[in-house]
Amino acid sequence: MTKRTYWLEHAWLDTHVEPGVAVDTADGRITAVHQDVDTPPPGAEILRGLTLPGLANAHSHAFHRALRSTVQVGSGTFWTWREVMYSFADKLTPETYHALARAVYAEMALAGITSVGEFHYVHHAPGGTPYADPNAMGEALIAAAADAGIRITLLDTAYLSAGFGEAPNTHQLRFSDGSAEAWAERCSVLKERDHARIGAAVHSVRAVPAAQLATVARWAEERRAPLHVHLSEQTAENDACLAAHGCTPTRLLADHGVLGPRTTGVHNTHLTDEDIALLGSSSTGTCMCPTTERDLADGIGPAAALQNAGSPLSLGSDSHAVIDLLEEARAMELNERLRTRTRGHWTAAALLRAASADGHAALGWDEAGTIEAGALADLTTIALDSVRTAGPLPRLGAETAVFAATAADVRHTIVGGRHVVRDGAHTLVPDVPQALARAVEALRA
Ligand SMILES: [Zn+2]
Repeated sequence: MTKRTYWLEHAWLDTHVEPGVAVDTADGRITAVHQDVDTPPPGAEILRGLTLPGLANAHSHAFHRALRSTVQVGSGTFWTWREVMYSFADKLTPETYHALARAVYAEMALAGITSVGEFHYVHHAPGGTPYADPNAMGEALIAAAADAGIRITLLDTAYLSAGFGEAPNTHQLRFSDGSAEAWAERCSVLKERDHARIGAAVHSVRAVPAAQLATVARWAEERRAPLHVHLSEQTAENDACLAAHGCTPTRLLADHGVLGPRTTGVHNTHLTDEDIALLGSSSTGTCMCPTTERDLADGIGPAAALQNAGSPLSLGSDSHAVIDLLEEARAMELNERLRTRTRGHWTAAALLRAASADGHAALGWDEAGTIEAGALADLTTIALDSVRTAGPLPRLGAETAVFAATAADVRHTIVGGRHVVRDGAHTLVPDVPQALARAVEALRA
């Protein structure tokens, strides 16, 4: 049994900052939390700054990292951005995707992220031919997370159509298994590991015919696995759904058994009052991706109304325009301030809960995201002495972390009791910028 004690100069204990906390761990779990420990116990690992529970990035498409900056040139919409995205998706192989995802997940670890929800739909070779191992791409992502030292929930995504009643286009052929039954058969072969869980996703109501939604929902229900779905990110999706089915995407999902407490709608941007009530009353979660939503000019989703209706909130960096969960957290609040011209819709504590405990729950890691006995020993330490964070009282550490710190202030990231980032350096991937540069270059070539 591997036992280790950490001494936290300041610890975020869900409601307040506690100075001087010793955290005992054994085999990757927290066994005890001791308060009022003024000096580090002998042999303890010292974590200076404010230690939070590990952060959960609840929505990722790892390969979108290759688009960074390329998609900032010129004008356009979500739909023009998507054409550039497809040109990169066309070039992925299990090898190049592994190299890119390993580097991207290492970037996430450096940003204090201990778990990622990978919304994965590039399943087959270009043209749609399955690889010798039909899950070669998913396995590449699971291996990449292990190499980068973080947890992953592989949200294996059903993507079967280009739009309502439309066959997949050339780019989308490699996303499609042909039917939800074939999707389920392929996913059922994927095995969970210590660091990896398997969940399901419906790409969107555009990409899975209504008659096949229940097959995906049932697969997740039988396994009690998380089920994610892109929902009403664009008004064009709502218009097309109304034309095809006479109802909103949320109503369509509700009618086909997709909503529920293990389901998370991603974006949930353009909703009616009835949609909000349906999501809230079914305890369906909402994953907001504010840096992507603003980057893609999607709009501002009604996060506060959704939470008030009963939808738990999580956060994701989605297209990885930037990878910074602290920025996602503050952006959700700041978007709401701009819209309403009032301040303080969420406390820093509530925003941290979305970035940690509730994000982990959305990914099926219910035992992560808190600093308490029994929880996974996943910790993220934010420097309180950097140029951005110096000055405020330590008891305002949560406010400092959410409203002033960035990913650059993450000093330590610990996953399952292992120091994945120590003093701002990744311990498993020696040169993360170089790994990113090489992996992106390989796709650009
Ligand atoms: Zn997405």
